[in-house]
Amino acid sequence: MATWISRQRIGLFTALIYFLLAGFAMAMNRHGGLLTMSPATPFLLAMLIGRSRRQWGPILIGATIGSVAASSIFGFGAIFALPMAAARVGEVGVAAWLFNRLRVRRGFLASLERVGRFVAAVGIAGPALGATIAATTVAIGYDLPFEQQWRLWFVGHSLSMISLTPVISLILSGAIRRWWRDAPHPLRLEGVLLIGATTVVAVGVFGQDHVPLLFLPILPVMLTTFRLGLIGAGASSVVLALVGGYATLHDMGPGNFLGSGIQTRMEFLQLYLACTVLTAFPVAADLSRRQALYRRLGESEARYRLLADHSTDIVLSVDIDGRIRYVSPSFEQITGTDPAGLTGQMVFDLVDRVDRMVVMTAHRDAIADPRGTQIVEYRARVHGGAQRWFETHTRAVLDGDGMVGGTVSMIRDVSHRKSREAELSRAASTDPLTGLANRRVFDAALAARIAAGGHAIAGCVAVFDIDHFKTVNDRFGHDTGDKVLQAFARMARGVMREGDVVARLGGEEFGILFPDTGIEQAHSLCERLRTTLAATKLRHGPSIVELTVSAGIAAIDGNDSATAVLRAADRALYAAKAEGRDRLRRAA
Ligand code: GH3
Ligand code: MG
Ligand code: MG
Repeated sequence: MATWISRQRIGLFTALIYFLLAGFAMAMNRHGGLLTMSPATPFLLAMLIGRSRRQWGPILIGATIGSVAASSIFGFGAIFALPMAAARVGEVGVAAWLFNRLRVRRGFLASLERVGRFVAAVGIAGPALGATIAATTVAIGYDLPFEQQWRLWFVGHSLSMISLTPVISLILSGAIRRWWRDAPHPLRLEGVLLIGATTVVAVGVFGQDHVPLLFLPILPVMLTTFRLGLIGAGASSVVLALVGGYATLHDMGPGNFLGSGIQTRMEFLQLYLACTVLTAFPVAADLSRRQALYRRLGESEARYRLLADHSTDIVLSVDIDGRIRYVSPSFEQITGTDPAGLTGQMVFDLVDRVDRMVVMTAHRDAIADPRGTQIVEYRARVHGGAQRWFETHTRAVLDGDGMVGGTVSMIRDVSHRKSREAELSRAASTDPLTGLANRRVFDAALAARIAAGGHAIAGCVAVFDIDHFKTVNDRFGHDTGDKVLQAFARMARGVMREGDVVARLGGEEFGILFPDTGIEQAHSLCERLRTTLAATKLRHGPSIVELTVSAGIAAIDGNDSATAVLRAADRALYAAKAEGRDRLRRAA
């Protein structure tokens, strides 16, 4: 029901406005032939292209009724009212259908290409059809020359559709009303002043025929367009059409220089208006596109700033040579240094010398592979000289031409993570009771020693086992046993040289790797450890713990496996135990 009413209303509205516009034009404008200017035609076209296809029915019917009524009262009379209505409504229907087919639609003067399609549909195809029907009708009915009447119709309707449709569309879409409602006061005032200026210039140009000043209105029209966009283009075109139309109909204005009849002067005016519209509207569309682009750019810049300025990481932007362009404020929280003076400095100077090469390589790689992210860890000194670890993710930044213009980096202080990692790896390789290397490290060192090869003397391995250790535990308790193990570890470390690997292999068994050391020298070092332990009296409360140790020594043969070398040392250790303990034995 509601749709039915709204369809009826649209039909009635179209019929009424069409009748008024067409009737007015016919009354004003008929000079022994077809009309040269008809605002009813662009009005109907604007109605059709502004609404969905479902509403075309009532609009076309309404226009036909309005046209028949106007023709009957003001035009060629009732007999020709129907064929003339067919010409008027038919040409607009075809123009609107093509307008949709050619996908001119929204922002229909937004680009040169769309202007072309708009002119083809609205300025050529539609009027050609209307001119053919109308000129045939008046040729038959009034014996008027077909060709001349065809040309009159075609030019008049083509130019009025091109010049007035954009403006009427703008008015019908409510855009002007919305603009007036939403525009801030100063902009409204500016709009009124600009339209006022356009009116004054138009009146000055069209109100006289001494000087041909037709180029002059283009100044206020373009100025209004630049300031107010599509609304400005539309409003100033309306002013120009009204003032120019009024002047031409009253035999005023620069059209008089043509010296010809009203028909020619009307055509001339419409050509003038069409040129203005086809200039101002595309400019307005381009301007609004640019404004939208700038707004988006501004928003994205603001978003980026917001992120960078409030990031807990450091955001750093450098040029292609590594010169700093921007450092986020978080730099100060993280390093304790005000980043103000950093712009223009070389970023690599901030990095510790040992890691500078790695950072430079990452920077170069980021530039060479703009789609990749380079991740690098390095050390740098912060305020007060303390060294910290940083992790940086670096990516190239492309400029407008797709060329690499520099890099942007996110920098994070990873010192905590680094020290935790170091702690973990220490824990994984150390025996917690004695602080010596553990079995894993000892095995790896021995395997690496064998694998490396190429040494004149590969080295030796010794395995120590404390004698009768169970008795120590039994007599003095497990804690004392632990203290004994720690004391022996300290002793071993004291006796052995830097480069010797001293490890606790498990229980009260210790391994020592002597790299580049002959069996004699290894033997004498082991002997020193044995005698040191034997000579040491460990105090446990009132009692004294006396201890001895046995050991087996084996030279590393490059052809043997680590297991074989250790087994040989073990066998020697058992021999030492079997022979009465507190002694060293060499592997056979
Ligand atoms: P031997 O002279 O034949 O080597 O005699 P031993 O008593 O030392 O014999 P064995 O090697 O079999 O015994 C080692 C003992 O060391 C057994 C175990 O209770 C003790 N032990 C192993 N690990 C620890 C430790 O971390 N702390 C303490 N207090 N004792 C340990
Ligand atoms: Mg043992
Ligand atoms: Mg033992």
